[in-house]
Amino acid sequence: MTAQIIDGKAFSAKVREQVAAHVARLKEEHGITPGLAVVLVGEDPASQVYVRSKGKQTVEAGMNSYEHKFDATISEEELLAIVDKLNKDPDVHGILVQLPLPDHLDSDLVINSIDPAKDVDGFHISNVGLLGTGQKSMVPCTPLGCLMMLREHHGSLSGMDAVVLGRSNIVGKPMAQLLLGDSCTVTIAHSRTKDLPEVVRRADIVVAAVGRPEMVPGDWIKEGATVIDVGINRIEREGKNKLVGDVDFDSCAARAGAITPVPGGVGPMTIACLLANTVTACCRANGLPEPEGLTA
Ligand code: NDP
Repeated sequence: MTAQIIDGKAFSAKVREQVAAHVARLKEEHGITPGLAVVLVGEDPASQVYVRSKGKQTVEAGMNSYEHKFDATISEEELLAIVDKLNKDPDVHGILVQLPLPDHLDSDLVINSIDPAKDVDGFHISNVGLLGTGQKSMVPCTPLGCLMMLREHHGSLSGMDAVVLGRSNIVGKPMAQLLLGDSCTVTIAHSRTKDLPEVVRRADIVVAAVGRPEMVPGDWIKEGATVIDVGINRIEREGKNKLVGDVDFDSCAARAGAITPVPGGVGPMTIACLLANTVTACCRANGLPEPEGLTA
């Protein structure tokens, strides 16, 4: 079997178009412009790239982007005061604090100081609890993007066997909750899982989020399964820098029914879902109907 490629770049462009159309309606019919505030602390080069890209795409979708950049030496008290100010600002519908934060800052404390209704990353403990109990919440962007691609490809996921590789709070656990919410039978695997190849071979859906370059070989994949590769790993091969996922693309594509590439799969969906979450937060804040198909 040669797998169908699930094109995250094309699909994310479609999601961004839907977001932009909804933003245009909010402006025209209600005079509201959704606003996203991104807080960046320090000089981490990867974080700077992400924040620039988020700001650019926010503006392209017709929304207001507010960037707040601070020196790595900012105190926790000062940062909490900034978040508090953004929480109270009616023009700000979404707040994102770019992680990782410098070591002297308590990430959990900072994230949990964000108003849950504005927590467009979905990392606030209230949103984690709401997702876990199947209630309306803000859903973390990367798993939301994976879910959207799976729904687009399969329609209903009901009854499918899904294996999520990785149990992090930002990808693995919320991904498993979302798949459970769509009535999959879900297994969460991690570094202590016994006989991982056999566990993965049972899966109709494999979501790989381990952060290990090309760890999953093709012979772990059930014939015809759908493989969603969340991994973003920079490696050097033949003297060149290369971006690879957590699955070995060629051997997995030879067995899978469908697979996401790296780059061009899950990555572009993550920012598209951040924009979607911001519009959703704005609609909820104003008591307006939420955009269809852009939430879990
Ligand atoms: P974490 O490092 O937080 O978690 C990795 C998970 O993988 C852990 O649960 C760990 O298990 C498990 N794991 C590690 N090694 C193995 C192994 N040999 N066998 C089985 N399980 C293993 O990573 P993240 O969840 O933050 O990210 C995962 C990947 O996704 C990374 O490559 C990251 O760059 C990428 N990513 C991509 C995003 C995107 O936008 N596309 C967004 C976020 C992340 P244990 O808990 O037992 O240690």
